[in-house]
Amino acid sequence: MKTIDLRSDTVTKPTAAMKQTMFEADVGDDVYGEDPTVNFLENKAADLLGKEAALFCASGTQSNLIALMAHCERGDEYIVGQDAHTYKYEAGGAAVLGSIQPQPVSLEADGTLDLEAVRNVIKPDDFHFAQTKLLCLENTIGGKVLPLAYIAQAKKLVDEHHLAFHLDGARLFNAMISQGVDVKEITMPFDSISICLSKGLGAPIGSVLVANSAIIAKARRIRKILGGGMRQAGMLAAAGIYALDNNLQRLNDDHANAKLLEQGFSAIEGITLHGRAQTNMVFFSAEKQKQLVDFLAEKNIIISNRKVIRLVFHLDVTADDVQKVIAAVNEFYRTKV
Ligand SMILES: *Cc1c(COP(=O)(O)O)cnc(C)c1O
Repeated sequence: MKTIDLRSDTVTKPTAAMKQTMFEADVGDDVYGEDPTVNFLENKAADLLGKEAALFCASGTQSNLIALMAHCERGDEYIVGQDAHTYKYEAGGAAVLGSIQPQPVSLEADGTLDLEAVRNVIKPDDFHFAQTKLLCLENTIGGKVLPLAYIAQAKKLVDEHHLAFHLDGARLFNAMISQGVDVKEITMPFDSISICLSKGLGAPIGSVLVANSAIIAKARRIRKILGGGMRQAGMLAAAGIYALDNNLQRLNDDHANAKLLEQGFSAIEGITLHGRAQTNMVFFSAEKQKQLVDFLAEKNIIISNRKVIRLVFHLDVTADDVQKVIAAVNEFYRTKV
């Protein structure tokens, strides 16, 4: 029986076709810059996002940390969302390894940072203060898409204050699909962007940091410091190339499946939806939550047991699976409560 795993879009497994391209990848020592497949992926990602250069990284955590360390020196500060991944879910790496002070700002309901609040925490040039160097946004954030007009306003603010501008774009392509724009329209204002190949794009490993050549040159040194210089990494990069070639447009299916589930759940008493699905995530709370989670697990449907449950759609979940989940939750509230 198939397992339907809705905990995250990180749980995808490489398909046979993806594995075949990994198997056949032309490789070399990437620390010498000699892995043709890594080089191809880096050029491809840079072109796609409209920047000069890119760096293949082991994870999004590493890629974000490298970006923060490329923009900020020891004792500098970056401004970030209170619930943003770089601040909250990356084990404090910026502080631990970069000696970079985070200045968190609360997130608004739509996933943006209030720009007046951001302006208010930018430190004046005074030796009492850390030097504010960078604003970091995340898109999508909690499944929400940042409006292009908002990013443009944020860009104005960072320019006024001579800050660098980084995007944690782990799910950038979900935003692209949702807005139906060329991804460059989203990435243009940013100095650096981190994308994940291992989320909805379905690669087993890997992120790419994209920026101008000077930042990437610095980033390459920092990656080495962090132990992220990989050798015949082309086998991994091949999966990323395959993902970018084949799995971008299909993110539409994940968004449609999220909507389908949301529709089904909206008719179930016992389920309270939180917000509306904009991309591949649905958030809700449930009566008898622990029992529901266990009941679904018996049916090989895996969801996380958090206060607000997040279901995430990805390429290993079909519309049929969604119907099964809706039916199972319906059955639970009909028979078990
Ligand atoms: C997953 C994720 C990352 C990076 O995660 P890794 O597991 O280190 O690849 C960064 N930012 C966001 C928003 C994410 O969801």
